[in-house]
Amino acid sequence: MNVLVINCGSSSLKFQLINSESEKVLAKGLCERIGIDGMFTYQPAGGEKEKSEKAMPTHTEAIQFVIDALTNAETGVVKSLDEIGAVGHRVVHGGEKFTSSVVITDEVKAAIEECNDLAPLHNPANLIGINACQELMPGTPMVAVFDTAFHQTMPDKAFIYGLPYEYYDKYKVRRYGFHGTSHSFVSKRAAELVGKSYDSVKTIVCHLGNGASICAVENGKSVDTSMGLTPLEGLVMGTRSGDIDPAILEFIAKKEGLDIAGLMNVLNKKSGVEGISGVSSDFRDLDAAAAEGNDQARIALDVFAYRVAKYVGAYTAAMNGVDVIAFTAGIGENAGSVRASVCEYLGYLGISIDSEANSKRGEEIKISTPDSKVTVMVIPTNEELAIARDTVALV
Ligand code: AMP
Repeated sequence: MNVLVINCGSSSLKFQLINSESEKVLAKGLCERIGIDGMFTYQPAGGEKEKSEKAMPTHTEAIQFVIDALTNAETGVVKSLDEIGAVGHRVVHGGEKFTSSVVITDEVKAAIEECNDLAPLHNPANLIGINACQELMPGTPMVAVFDTAFHQTMPDKAFIYGLPYEYYDKYKVRRYGFHGTSHSFVSKRAAELVGKSYDSVKTIVCHLGNGASICAVENGKSVDTSMGLTPLEGLVMGTRSGDIDPAILEFIAKKEGLDIAGLMNVLNKKSGVEGISGVSSDFRDLDAAAAEGNDQARIALDVFAYRVAKYVGAYTAAMNGVDVIAFTAGIGENAGSVRASVCEYLGYLGISIDSEANSKRGEEIKISTPDSKVTVMVIPTNEELAIARDTVALV
């Protein structure tokens, strides 16, 4: 079956058409600047990437362009929509309602809408994508795959904040965690690669991308993760602050004359390694700047790796041990220097790294030495494939 995987943002839409038998990507692309003007990028497997301006006043036009491209007589990869068996939609927040992926019904859409409060930038956009697809592909089954669902197995000691309990009761303020599709995909693959059963292995997944989070996966279940009610908590990220003393907010608000929206903008968009370095959120730029002697870039890299190492220590305690540590996402898969810096802190766990293996980029590889007490691996994540697999399993 061919599955169309859709990841819809407020003004953008990423798509991949995946064949579920071969698990190959048949075509992929991106609609950008939806509601502004419109830019369409499309690439069939093995073919040229095409980029063109196309008017996209709403997501419906964007999805129509996706369908037109996929079924185009020359560059398309299917003859008609009949060859698309299902659509898998990434949905950011499933609150406490969704503990796994689900077939989309009117009730499911209403429940996703009820979670809008928890992800006001993402869930409404995800729903728009679902509605636009349903309009243009009536009768094609659709599945919602939630970023939060994998973490619904966390025990209350991991998800309850040190706040008045009534905020949880009344408003569902708790840790939800994100990147669940990636943490689930990578931890399953890690178990396969070390030849252990998924339900008897302790794994720490370090999803280090522009957004970054860590997850403790014990016996196939997420037991703790670093992102919280929103994706702002936890690690120091590209432009997000991660954990800070909450009292800093009042202090800076007074000093800089900022309101809540201004503060949130700083924490989400002007902080992290970009905020510390004043250089960039991209680790390639930070490495280059640090190599040229830029001390703030050096500090940003040190802060990033130190925070990751502290979380690995915390999650080793949470699980009373760890068998596998897996690095994934843009930084985790590509930045050997970051992996080396993190692992330098982990000698107390008996971890030792093979520097030649660690110098590889973007491939599935074991980077720990044979005598290392914990297996350390790089496992490229593939959220689209995970969404396609869930979609096929449900339809
Ligand atoms: P993601 O959000 O998973 O797409 O990760 C994007 C981030 O990965 C970028 O902002 C970079 O910081 C990092 N990245 C990508 N490629 C490299 C590379 N070759 N070396 C170091 N960092 C990289």
